[in-house]
Amino acid sequence: MSAILPVYRRSNITISRGEGVYLFSPEEKRYLDFASGIAVNALGHAHPHLVAALQKQAAELWHCSNMYQMPGLTRLAERFVEATFADKAFFCNSGGEAVECGLKMVRKYHDANGRPERYRVVTMEGGFHGRTFACISAGGNDVARKGYEPLMDGFDRAKLNNLASVEAAIGPETAAILVEPIQGEGGVNVATFEFLRGLRAIADKHGLLLFMDEVQCGMGRTGALFTHQQAGVKPDIVSAAKGIGNGFPLGACLTTDAVASAMTPGSHGSTYGSNPLAMAVGNAVLDIILAPGFFAHVSEVGATLKSGLETLAKTYPLLFEDVRGSGLMLGLKTHKPHYEFVERLREAGLLTAPAENRVIRIVPPLIITQGHVAEALEILTNTAKGWV
Ligand SMILES: *Cc1c(COP(=O)(O)O)cnc(C)c1O
Repeated sequence: MSAILPVYRRSNITISRGEGVYLFSPEEKRYLDFASGIAVNALGHAHPHLVAALQKQAAELWHCSNMYQMPGLTRLAERFVEATFADKAFFCNSGGEAVECGLKMVRKYHDANGRPERYRVVTMEGGFHGRTFACISAGGNDVARKGYEPLMDGFDRAKLNNLASVEAAIGPETAAILVEPIQGEGGVNVATFEFLRGLRAIADKHGLLLFMDEVQCGMGRTGALFTHQQAGVKPDIVSAAKGIGNGFPLGACLTTDAVASAMTPGSHGSTYGSNPLAMAVGNAVLDIILAPGFFAHVSEVGATLKSGLETLAKTYPLLFEDVRGSGLMLGLKTHKPHYEFVERLREAGLLTAPAENRVIRIVPPLIITQGHVAEALEILTNTAKGWV
């Protein structure tokens, strides 16, 4: 009997080492990692710049608490402010905590502005925002919610890419709209730029905050630091995590001065949040992804990979329904149960990440080359031949 709480569909393969875009079993079987620990290892495994940054910090200071000034924290916050819509950044340890911070600030903002009755948040069907009570209440995944009732009150659901359904969900108690620009767990469902811009207009019309959950699609994955930047939309709150620490636990919640001015000492916090180890890694990640040409590279290899997947889907129409996504956040929808294909790919040496609705997520490290794309497409094609 396993000593591990059975909350994961864990495969039998063992991973003991990573190098660049490859993972290795203890027997040195090599896997091309197009799952990236679910869109986390954006810079691959054991990246020398990140290893050096973490080792240097580990010898200097691990933790001192938010009672003191910390240069790594100041620098990381300033860099996010410089590169985004945000005026203020808060750091925590995970995506769910980043979303929690955002949801709390939504209420605090309206309370501070004399509208305490505004506490409800319009969320999208198929959304995923994490595993805390507020996050599962906001999310649309029934398995994640079942048996935990009563869930938190205050979430009203609308349909992605349907502005009329968003309008219909808004009432006098609505405080904010929460959306993933690309739904990850829900099956790589892309919100159109038109929809995102429409949400901004609706939020402005009703005095609501616009909260983008970019935990999965942010940090360069779609070819920009954040996906909403490509849509030309300015949100009020953004949650980030996954790629931000490349595997070191780190999350961020970004916001404007207008929202941040409602927050006061003691109104939120986290013991480990903004700890020096995480700040060192976060700064090292930004050194690389903010370097000139990085996002263009993501868009370029992403386009090749997507067109290769589209060819694959056309070649095997009985296996594959469609290809969706943007940059290096791609999804391949299958007709047959997708877990089966994911397992076959694993056996063939290619790792991918299943999502909901029979969608296989293809979310490789952002540092992949055209050679890695060709290698993955070859494994996908050969595995498809054997699955017909
Ligand atoms: C993964 C994810 C989360 C939750 O992040 P955790 O680090 O697991 O808490 C929240 N929102 C989105 C969009 C995610 O993809």
